[in-house]
Amino acid sequence: MRLVVKVGTSSLTDEEGRVDSEAVGRLAVEVAKVRAMDHQVVLVSSGAIAAGLPALGWSAGQRPRDPRTLQAVSAVGQAHLLGEWNRAFEGHGLVSGQVLLAPLDFGHRAQYLQARSTLERLLEMGVVPVVNENDAIADDEIRFGDNDRIAALVAQLVGAELLVLLTDTAGLMDADPRLTSDAALVEEVAEIDRELERVSAGAGTARGSGGMSSKLSAAKMASWSGVRCLIANAARADVLADAINGERGVGTWVPAHERRLGARKLWIAFAMPSAGRLVIDDGAVRALTVSGRSLLPAGVVEVQGDFSADDAVEVLDSTGTVVAKGLVRAGSDEAARAAGRRSDEVDLDELIHRDDLVVLS
Ligand code: GLU
Repeated sequence: MRLVVKVGTSSLTDEEGRVDSEAVGRLAVEVAKVRAMDHQVVLVSSGAIAAGLPALGWSAGQRPRDPRTLQAVSAVGQAHLLGEWNRAFEGHGLVSGQVLLAPLDFGHRAQYLQARSTLERLLEMGVVPVVNENDAIADDEIRFGDNDRIAALVAQLVGAELLVLLTDTAGLMDADPRLTSDAALVEEVAEIDRELERVSAGAGTARGSGGMSSKLSAAKMASWSGVRCLIANAARADVLADAINGERGVGTWVPAHERRLGARKLWIAFAMPSAGRLVIDDGAVRALTVSGRSLLPAGVVEVQGDFSADDAVEVLDSTGTVVAKGLVRAGSDEAARAAGRRSDEVDLDELIHRDDLVVLS
């Protein structure tokens, strides 16, 4: 089996926020166990910022806030982080290799194929690829989720069967364990959007930037690309072997969606921020969702937000439900002028071409 395993900053650092060689070592043991069973593992590891702070002589607990400094710190720390993984894997006769990716790489076909081909070759060679976001260039995961999204995109990229998001809780709980003693593990998420709503109030820890809602969003992306996802405790012995065996109680499972999105559509739907909204009429909803057509200006009832051509926008039905998301071919001013009018009247064939449109209902 091919699996992508993501481990966040909080699972790799000690109380002071320093990278904890023992924690890295324990996870290397888990990876080595499943490598020994001939499974292929791509590791997505955060921790560059955590490793960079002490290297600069800064207190590990005091994480800077501005993205520019965080990006610079990550550039310092990434080499230290890889050093930790290299040492830990060496002890098991394993070789690791660093691959740094930014979300935009998943939206550019040539880069996407190149990344896929390199990862494929690394896996063929028996290497454990260690992926992190290229924070020096793009800081998305610093702001949004400690590599959870990158991990989901990588799972799609390498055609993994399973994405394991390791964290410092047993998985998703049905109540906040800090507030109640009888919080129980949710073993399987049936309705991901409902769970997302429930936990979205919660935030990440001080050391990382993820949190459960970021994990569920990543699980949703994985699910939409046909990859099963497990959210489980990084400190659990045999966590990866049990995940592969589909053991009960190992964590929270998010099953794969029946419909699979390709890389570009996945990126449009879940990795691109949406810059505005188009409310469309019922006829247009049917054209998009049932007939798989492009969105024409005539079907648009209202344009919300200030966006440019090529931005991603959400498409809503008259009740306010998001039915699709796509790359718009005109800016908000032109879209507003064209809304409700025939294409030949406004010299705009489609507002969102079907190739750039992802139906989400
Ligand atoms: N990619 C970053 C890292 O490795 C994200 C983690 C974070 O935001 O703390 O450090």
